[in-house]
Amino acid sequence: SVDQLAEVKLQRMLYPKPETLNPPRTDVLTITPWFAPIVWNGMYNSDILNAHFLQRGVRIGLTVFAIKKYTVFVKTFIETAEKFFMVGHRVNYYVYTDRPSDIPNITLAEGRRLVILNVPSYQRWQEVSMRRMEMIRDLSHQRFNKEVDYLVCVDVDMQFSDEVGVEILSDVFGTLHPGFYGSDRQSFTYERRPESQAFIPADEGDFYYAGGFFGGTVEEVYKLTDFCHYAMMTDKEHNIEAIWHDESYLNKYFLYHKPTKILSIEYLWDNSFGVPDLLKRRRFVAVPKNHEAIRN
Ligand code: UDP
Ligand code: MN
Repeated sequence: SVDQLAEVKLQRMLYPKPETLNPPRTDVLTITPWFAPIVWNGMYNSDILNAHFLQRGVRIGLTVFAIKKYTVFVKTFIETAEKFFMVGHRVNYYVYTDRPSDIPNITLAEGRRLVILNVPSYQRWQEVSMRRMEMIRDLSHQRFNKEVDYLVCVDVDMQFSDEVGVEILSDVFGTLHPGFYGSDRQSFTYERRPESQAFIPADEGDFYYAGGFFGGTVEEVYKLTDFCHYAMMTDKEHNIEAIWHDESYLNKYFLYHKPTKILSIEYLWDNSFGVPDLLKRRRFVAVPKNHEAIRN
């Protein structure tokens, strides 16, 4: 059982020695200038990490929003998560929805639980997307802090197609956006109007982070979502909304509160971009959707 797994003691483990003079990846950046790892296939050993996190009995909350027609994505999302997301660990799925009766009954593995959170919807899809920050923030202090150690906050129009495990966990983490991992700073689609709280000047910025995958400890996610929600509300008062909504505010947060780990494009890919050589595994990929039809 999961409880027994949690009691596994760190013990003798056999694995290849890390090679100081022969780094596993030289084709991609694997650490930031502030010493946060960037997670790529080949850079870590799951056995070591699983033993470490099982010994701590880590509990993980996966938050997802299925508002209005987006409930159609829930079945595939959870079914593929059962195969690939944090297998062997304690997981709570937190599904925020305005249509609880549309959420299918899915049999989960031991140690895993589905929690349906009934919430209101908003008319504009941009507002639905942005309000996720407020709703994650509110439950972080009311509920998540009592039930899990880490939160992983993702889009629902996605499916898991390879392992996403404890290698992603850290105090606060973001994910490289699949459209901008090779781009210049100037090409990042940050908010460029100084009037907005999300404003980032042309000569600043590290990476362009995706709005659809971030997380960390419950306390760090509280701080992140509280910042983003507050910035959005301030902009709303001034009748301005950042160009890419919650993603723009998230990028502003990460500029001045550096993430302690960054997930590579393996963790957020869109197959319509093809498969570059450096992409060895596609772990979490976008489910194609008709934007017009699904959002209205
Ligand atoms: N979303 C939702 N209902 C909507 C619009 C958005 O539940 O009507 C949620 C859903 O979790 C979705 C996320 O907001 O994955 C972000 O929106 P979307 O995936 O459409 O943005 P994109 O990935 O296309 O930028
Ligand atoms: Mn999406």
